[in-house]
Amino acid sequence: MIKDNIEYVQSEMKKACEKSNRDINDVKLICVSKTKPVSDIQEAYDAGARDFGENKVQELMDKIDKLPDDIRWHLIGHLQTNKVKYVVGKVFMIHSVDSLKLAAAIDKESEKKNVITDILLEVNISGEESKFGLKPEKLSEVVSEIEKLEHVNLKGFMTVPPIINDSSDNSVYFKRLKDLSVDIMGKKTDNNCGIELSMGMSDDYRTAIECGATYVRVGSFIFGARDYSKL
Ligand SMILES: *Cc1c(COP(=O)(O)O)cnc(C)c1O
Repeated sequence: MIKDNIEYVQSEMKKACEKSNRDINDVKLICVSKTKPVSDIQEAYDAGARDFGENKVQELMDKIDKLPDDIRWHLIGHLQTNKVKYVVGKVFMIHSVDSLKLAAAIDKESEKKNVITDILLEVNISGEESKFGLKPEKLSEVVSEIEKLEHVNLKGFMTVPPIINDSSDNSVYFKRLKDLSVDIMGKKTDNNCGIELSMGMSDDYRTAIECGATYVRVGSFIFGARDYSKL
């Protein structure tokens, strides 16, 4: 059951926090509900979940109106500039900003709607060709430019590491993102406690927490395997 799965993940998150001397309140669970029906999301909501992650703008828009208003929607999939207008003002945070151009479009739309949009920059930390995200060496420059934008609030970074069999292996990527975030944001703030790091999925959220994740994005473990053939 979805409720049991959420409770299990939360207890594992707590253990990972204890192991790494972290406060559980600093780590939030995002239930990734892509491809799953509204009824599953409602079930998770009834079990207390409020943060949900979706990949596709159209799917997100279809779901938002059918579910309670106090859900915090996280857009975690690739966002095209021409779809920015649909999500600004509707989502709690955009995790997948991967260019200055996209950040500027979000800024412009946010100004139009008189809101400030929280964003994360997606970093291609493993350097895989197939992955979205900024190259680590570009990050510092893009961060400086984004900080000039008045209607986006850069909260931190997100990454999707390679799919591997032994989940503990991704710790090298998680640690790299943590170090990079401290390097870049640490220079700009007196302390870097406020930096959000969105990393870790069903197979590696424990490892990600031990490496400093503040958001973990767990889908298939909570809702079951996804069936893409029905879409
Ligand atoms: C699908 C997805 C997840 C969840 O993955 P699971 O392995 O099902 O937990 C997390 N993050 C992103 C960006 C995703 O696309």
